[in-house]
Amino acid sequence: HLQLQKVGKSYGAVEVIPGIDFEINSGEFLVLVGPSGSGKSTLLKMIAGLEETTSGKIMVDGEDITHLDPSARDLAMVFQSYALYPHMTVRDNMSFALRMRGEDPAEIDRRVKEAVVMLDLGGLENRKPGQLSGGQRQRVAMGRCVVRNPKLFLFDEPLSNLDAKLRAQTRIEIRRLHERLNATSIFVTHDQVEAMTMADRIALLKDGKLQQIGSPQDLYLRPKNTFVATFIGTPE
Ligand code: ATP
Ligand code: MG
Repeated sequence: HLQLQKVGKSYGAVEVIPGIDFEINSGEFLVLVGPSGSGKSTLLKMIAGLEETTSGKIMVDGEDITHLDPSARDLAMVFQSYALYPHMTVRDNMSFALRMRGEDPAEIDRRVKEAVVMLDLGGLENRKPGQLSGGQRQRVAMGRCVVRNPKLFLFDEPLSNLDAKLRAQTRIEIRRLHERLNATSIFVTHDQVEAMTMADRIALLKDGKLQQIGSPQDLYLRPKNTFVATFIGTPE
């Protein structure tokens, strides 16, 4: 259970998020949408601890994590750029975080094998990122998160480098992974179709302010203002 309480962010004198409140239930898949510059990435980075919050509190299962070190947070963030280590194999990329944490090698091996099967990466374990397709690289990036078995997944437009067919396929894989891992997810996208098809609930941001949060049907059929109606109703 993730709770944002009046979470705000300023860069110097510029306030990009005045103070946002919302909650996500365990197991929920929340899709975060909004125009470019509305604060989506900033919000995810604050939850991940990659940006300091200027005000407010971030609570996970009742625990205040607002100022916790990123590595101490039980979550994983998947970016658009995969940021894999180019000189390492798929297996080493996936096991890196666990090795750094000093986990038992047999346990690391077991988890990597499990993730390889889950993400359909069998046979590619010894390749380097440069020898993979974009979709395969994206799956390795997800594998790196999956092996850590986090409770919360944060996705920042992870599919935008993929072609239409692969996007559609990966969308389904991510949803399936979310169910299988019993995870809670926040997924940022520019793509309304993605939002409408993947979300349990959609949150729409504009200028760092939450315009509406609700089921896809809710936003589509009962938009709270013309901005919501226009944003949800107009495919890109
Ligand atoms: P996009 O859809 O283009 O990715 P976004 O919704 O993710 O946009 P953010 O990246 O969160 O938007 O940016 C929100 C606002 O904060 C923007 O106006 C941006 O210019 C500003 N911003 C982001 N990072 C910084 C920074 N390090 N210093 C100053 N301003 C920043
Ligand atoms: Mg962004």
